[in-house]
Amino acid sequence: MSTSTSYEYTRQDATGSSCTVQAWAKVPPALSGAQKTELIAKARALLESRNAVLVAHYYVDGDLQDLALATGGIVADSLEMARFGRDHAAQTLVVAGVRFMGESAKILSPEKRVLMPDLDATCSLDLGCPPDDFAAFCDAHPDRQVVVYANTSAAVKARADWMVTSSCALAIVKHLKDSGQKVLWAPDRHLGRYVQQETGADMLLWNGACIVHDEFKGTELELLKAQHPEAMVLVHPESPESVVALADVVGSTSQMLNAVVNGPAREYIVATDNLIMHRMRQLAPGKVLIEAPTAGNAASCKSCAHCPWMAMNGLQGVVDCLEHGHGEIQVEASLGRQAQACITRMLDFVKANPSALAPKVQGMVRGIGAA
Ligand code: SF4
Repeated sequence: MSTSTSYEYTRQDATGSSCTVQAWAKVPPALSGAQKTELIAKARALLESRNAVLVAHYYVDGDLQDLALATGGIVADSLEMARFGRDHAAQTLVVAGVRFMGESAKILSPEKRVLMPDLDATCSLDLGCPPDDFAAFCDAHPDRQVVVYANTSAAVKARADWMVTSSCALAIVKHLKDSGQKVLWAPDRHLGRYVQQETGADMLLWNGACIVHDEFKGTELELLKAQHPEAMVLVHPESPESVVALADVVGSTSQMLNAVVNGPAREYIVATDNLIMHRMRQLAPGKVLIEAPTAGNAASCKSCAHCPWMAMNGLQGVVDCLEHGHGEIQVEASLGRQAQACITRMLDFVKANPSALAPKVQGMVRGIGAA
């Protein structure tokens, strides 16, 4: 039996005011070794018989990541997940991640069936940016290019000029600034502030946050750094300013992974969802990985650096969606076409500017290649 836990997130309205709202996430039941073995075998057979491919995010359970890789799928960040799903020959995509990732897959591949292990797996950034309020906010600022982060609904993307991921946000906003454009940015306030500081662009920021990255603490990270003076600090830019300020590398999940694989250090302090370490350990087995601190000594499991909605993805959900067609993503066709425009603009930009995916390395460059 699964149970539910509630979480608080920030939601802005059309006027720019914000409030704190509660959302819930299911905690999936733990599986025995025998149950896992049986479900993995079943999922493998279903993926093959249904001409389906598993597209998994770095933050989902390690068993799902391994299943994706063992069956010809992918484990990736949201940008690569979207590209892979679009370009793969399979007619059914099983997206193990959160709802906006399934919607992005459907928007880019409207002719394919997109299934998710649990359609209730959401994201505090998506929840904190309601489409009607967002549209009204955009209408009030018609002189700005609307740039939205991938972590938004199809309806919010449909209102945007550009979509960005954390891999390419800096390069795209810099491009807009260099073209003389002002930006309306949504929804992550930390990533928006970081992009604003790095590019000097004129940006109006929506007030949203990721409930996982928002929990990382600068003071505790400084103490941890003092205990591991040789460690490189890798930080996702959805984290607070005090945490980003202590980073050696600021970048997306793929860029952080690349930093561990190619970086010169033996130890790495990692400030993002801790399940990324599953893939980091596989690709860089000799490196020592240390979780960045969240809420100090009083940390509760609500601040344990793992996304409760990513955790809703499980082997049982993969089997159920393939076997019974549960969890199919639907995006209304005209809305999908509108939303596709901003995603395609980003993909075209990245294709034309491969260096747009380079991570930000603070201070001197320490021999890390671009992602
Ligand atoms: S980790 Fe944060 S940004 Fe990612 S899906 Fe969870 S709540 Fe959203």
